[in-house]
Amino acid sequence: MCLFCEIIKGNIPSTKVYEDDRILAFKDINPVAPVHILIAPKEHIASANEINTDNSKYVAHIFEKIPEIAKAQGIESYRVINNCGSDAGQTVMHLHFHLIGGVELGEKII
Ligand code: AMP
Ligand code: ZN
Repeated sequence: MCLFCEIIKGNIPSTKVYEDDRILAFKDINPVAPVHILIAPKEHIASANEINTDNSKYVAHIFEKIPEIAKAQGIESYRVINNCGSDAGQTVMHLHFHLIGGVELGEKII
């Protein structure tokens, strides 16, 4: 079972902030900032390592929608993060991008 596939299907509840036929954006259950949204493709892609010419349209669409999703959250300055693999802290093996903001983040990621 993939947690985010279950959230996308509606079998596990989430706080959705944007949805269309290709992607879902929902609030992170454990936010690290006032705005912490997860944006995932509706097609199961395990990680950034699995992005290819067939499915990269989902990634492009996510980035096309990020400004709109951020603006709806009241921010136009933010950080977008993808964790790929266990060393990078990926805990859910369904590609997703963290949209984080609403606070001074500082210039360093780590
Ligand atoms: P990552 O560590 O990059 O794989 O990010 C996974 C994220 O999913 C973490 O920030 C978790 O807080 C978040 N998360 C885990 N379960 C849920 C859930 N049921 N609803 C919303 N966010 C979740
Ligand atoms: Zn999945």
